[in-house]
Amino acid sequence: MKVFKFGGASTKDAEGVKNVVKVLAMFNGEPLVIVISAMGKTTNAIELILKAYLDHDKVLATLIHDLKRYHIGIIDDLFEQNGNSVIAGIESLFEDMQMTLSRNKSTQYDFIYDQIIGYGELLSSTILSAYLNYSGYTNKWIDARELIKTDSVYRDAGVQWQETQDKINTLLTPDTCYLTQGFIASDANNFTTTLGREGSDYTASILAYCLGADNVTIWKDVPGVLNADPRVFETTRLLSHISYEEAIELAFYGASVIHPKTLQPLQRKEIPLYVKSFLKPNGSGTTVKKGAPLDPMVPCYIVKKNQILLSLSARDFSFIVEDNISELFNLLHTHQLKVDLIQNSAISFSVCLDNKFNSFEVLLQQLQAKFKVSYQKEVALYTIRHFDQDAITRLEQNKDILLKQLTKETYQMVAKQ
Ligand code: ADP
Ligand code: ASP
Ligand code: MG
Repeated sequence: MKVFKFGGASTKDAEGVKNVVKVLAMFNGEPLVIVISAMGKTTNAIELILKAYLDHDKVLATLIHDLKRYHIGIIDDLFEQNGNSVIAGIESLFEDMQMTLSRNKSTQYDFIYDQIIGYGELLSSTILSAYLNYSGYTNKWIDARELIKTDSVYRDAGVQWQETQDKINTLLTPDTCYLTQGFIASDANNFTTTLGREGSDYTASILAYCLGADNVTIWKDVPGVLNADPRVFETTRLLSHISYEEAIELAFYGASVIHPKTLQPLQRKEIPLYVKSFLKPNGSGTTVKKGAPLDPMVPCYIVKKNQILLSLSARDFSFIVEDNISELFNLLHTHQLKVDLIQNSAISFSVCLDNKFNSFEVLLQQLQAKFKVSYQKEVALYTIRHFDQDAITRLEQNKDILLKQLTKETYQMVAKQ
C-alpha cells in the first residue's frame, strides 16, 4: 500500500484535477490511499464565511454562493455527462454546512471552526472521487473522520493512536484504492476535529503509519524540498535526500513545504517520504529517509514572517528566573502561542512568538500586570541550517536586526519585516 497526498494547489481548477488523473495513471493497478486537501484557497474562504457568520455580516450569503459557484464551475469543466449527480452531492454538502451554522449554539470559536472548516475537504474529495471513477480510476470515497480519532482539542487535535489503528484495521481492506480527506478527524463524541492548518500532509503520515505503508508521496507545485522557499529566495537548490532528523528540524523551524508533525510517525516505521512535483511527476524529487543528513550539503534558509518579539523584565530589581519563566510558559501554553526562539540575559527575557490563534492581546494584558513588557509585531524569524559565513553575510544585508543566536548547526536572526 502507498499513500499519496494532493494539496490545494494541485486541484485548484479543472485542469489541475485532470492532471491528478494523469499522475495516478502512472501508478494504475497499485493499491493507493489518496488524501485530498481543499481545492485552491477554499480553507481561507471558509474562514471568511465563519467570520461573516459570527459577525452577523450580510456578506455571508454572497461568500457561500461564491464558494459554491467555484466548485460547481470545476464540475462543469470536468464532466461531460453525469455532472448533475456530482453537483447534487455538492449542493447537499452546502446545505449541511448552512444547517450546521444555523443550528449552532456553541460560543466556542475553535469548536465551531472545526465543525465548518472541513467542508472544504468534503467538497474536494467528493469531486475528485467522482471524477476519478468517471475517468476509469476506480476508487472508494471514505470519510477520514471514521478513520482518524483524536482528542477534543479543536483546531489542533492530538491523534488517539490506538483507536485510529483499530478503525483503520476494521475499515480498510488491502488491494482497494481509497480516496479520503486530509486535515479532518473526529473526537470521541464524533464531532469533527482538525489537525491544524496545512495538516493534510500529517493525515497522509497517520494513515501510512497505521497501514504500515511502503511509502508516502506528497505532490507539490515545487520540484521537491528546496534549500529555501522559492517565493522568497531567487536561487534555490533541490535537496535530493534528507534524513528524517534533518527534515524534522527544517519543518520545525518553519519550512512550510512539509507540515512539522508529518515526519515522526514515518520515522518510527522507517517509511520513506517522497516530495514530488505534480507538474513533473517523473522528476526525481526529494526522498526523506534514514541516512546522511542532507544531500547536497548546502545551507538551508527558512523564513517565518509575522512573528512577535516579546521581551520581559521584572517590575522590581529582580531577575527573570525559574519561577517567573515557568509562569510565563504556562501562560504561553494556555494561550497556544508557539515559541520559536528564546534568549535571556540577566535582566530581560525575550521570546519570538507565532501568534497562530490570535491570542497575543489577551496574553499581553496578563503579562503587563506582572512584568515590564516590550514587544515588536511584524518581525521575521530567519533560520539557516548548516550555515557558513557567506550565507550569513548575504542574509544579513539590508536587514534591521533585533536579535541573533548561533548553535553548532543553526543560525537564527530576528529582524524587522
Ligand atoms: P500544498 O498545500 O498544495 O500541499 P503548500 O503550499 O503547503 O502545498 O507547499 C508548497 C509550497 O511550499 C511551495 O509552493 C513553496 O512556495 C513553499 N515552500 C516553503 N519552503 C519550501 C522549501 N524549502 N522547498 C520547497 N517549497 C517550499
Ligand atoms: N485545507 C487545509 C488548509 O488549507 C489543510 C491542508 O491544506 O493541508 O490548511
Ligand atoms: Mg498546504
